[in-house]
Amino acid sequence: MRNRALDRGWTLNEYRLGPAPQTIAGKHRTVAVEIPPISDEAGLYRALGLDFIPPELRESCGEFEAAESGTLPRLIEPEDLRGTFHCHTTASDGHNSLAEMVEAARDLGLEYIGIADHSRSSVQAHGLDESRLKVQRAQIRALNETVTDIRVFSGIECDILRDGSLDFPDETLAELDFVVASIHSTLNLSEAEMTKRVIRAMENPYVTMLAHPTGRLLLKREGYAIEIPAIIDAAARTGTWIELNAAPKRLDLDWRWWPLAKRKGVRCVINPDAHRVARLQDLSFGIGSARKGWLTKDDVVNCLPLNRIEAELKKKRERK
Ligand SMILES: [Zn+2]
Ligand SMILES: [Zn+2]
Repeated sequence: MRNRALDRGWTLNEYRLGPAPQTIAGKHRTVAVEIPPISDEAGLYRALGLDFIPPELRESCGEFEAAESGTLPRLIEPEDLRGTFHCHTTASDGHNSLAEMVEAARDLGLEYIGIADHSRSSVQAHGLDESRLKVQRAQIRALNETVTDIRVFSGIECDILRDGSLDFPDETLAELDFVVASIHSTLNLSEAEMTKRVIRAMENPYVTMLAHPTGRLLLKREGYAIEIPAIIDAAARTGTWIELNAAPKRLDLDWRWWPLAKRKGVRCVINPDAHRVARLQDLSFGIGSARKGWLTKDDVVNCLPLNRIEAELKKKRERK
């Protein structure tokens, strides 16, 4: 920005934008150059021949070139999000009931919410076995009869077992509206084994989305070894969505990977992984992260309205 200002005979620093001092006959002089009136940050960018670069993109990742050529993306905004998936209830390790979670999502203005409690192998999280899952499915069906202004989708956060198989057989998964697959155990495999394990899970036609793909816990635990470009390729090939987990301790998949995922045609899904009603608001962190990853509302599948998301949920199953 400073160099661009100098090219125009201006100086730009932390104090001011003004005429650049010039040396004339050995003396510093300030010569009168015209500086356009600037009232805000966007005006400054404009004066320097650039489209406004949103703060999230200021990472030296090609944003200047894009601003110069008028090709910056129109980044996703909080109000673009129409629904979300991957929320927990007291049926597993959540702190609020199904009805409370649904009501809170509706109060946030969401058109749909996907419930995905843990599966049976996540014993410490009180994971659901098939009979408890069946009860929850019935509860969701009943709730959809009575609740207005929001649709509830019935899913599961299904553990990916050590060999890449899933915690439930296909017949069980087929009864659900969607399946979130994720890893919670045996995190110490080699990168090759872990990558193979996750790809095998994504090849299952019922796995709608891959949750928190590296398992990192910020400031606490590094992600497990996994080859993300291979995961992105497999997601593109199989039609599996990749989650941007919006919990501030995760923000997983990291924003740095999303430009690659987008180029490969992978759909992002922003989920709060909420374990209580208040954490539904973590969605805003997911939006911020998606913006850093150059994502627009067309890249994020849960920006689709209710009347289009249902078909989208079925797409991968119908390919098999
Ligand atoms: Zn999880
Ligand atoms: Zn979860």
